[in-house]
Amino acid sequence: MISAKEAIKKLEEGNKKYLTENTGSGDISPAARLRTYENGQQPYAIVIACSDSRVIPESIFSAGIGELFTIRLAGNVIDDHQLGSIEYAVEHLGSNLVVVMGHTGCGAVEAAIHHEPSGFIKYITDEIQLAIGEETDPYRASCLNVEHSIRQISHALDIDHLRHGNDPAVIGAIYHIDDGHVVFLDM
Ligand SMILES: [Zn+2]
Repeated sequence: MISAKEAIKKLEEGNKKYLTENTGSGDISPAARLRTYENGQQPYAIVIACSDSRVIPESIFSAGIGELFTIRLAGNVIDDHQLGSIEYAVEHLGSNLVVVMGHTGCGAVEAAIHHEPSGFIKYITDEIQLAIGEETDPYRASCLNVEHSIRQISHALDIDHLRHGNDPAVIGAIYHIDDGHVVFLDM
């Protein structure tokens, strides 16, 4: 299993490749399906991203079958179901890197800034409002929302303990939907 540092490098290289691709370039071949069926999965990173149809983690990082453990939901917010998924991948699949990836033009973040949604959407925007407070700039609000999700993961899960001292990391990133580049955030 690769280290968190190596995993970040792989994501950066995959994103660089994606910038000029017209189709997904990860390995989704029949051979990869069979290999991961027989040997199981060892995803090198866990990516928590928005459900937005323009944000496709496997494509963004040029990843194929068995490479990313992906959790997607509107606004990349965290609750117990997401925490359970992260815990599973860290403890049982050996992933050393957790990335919370927000994105520009996020409808969930903008709804939290400008509206008071009703129905089940409110569960998401209430959580984002907690994260962003009075912030009205969409980019800064997306960063705050990512940082909030990271705090929740760090607060709830002892990732170091789960990884038995393998020096795991939980980091943030913002995907730019206009040109496809990912900025990893300094936390
Ligand atoms: Zn979004």
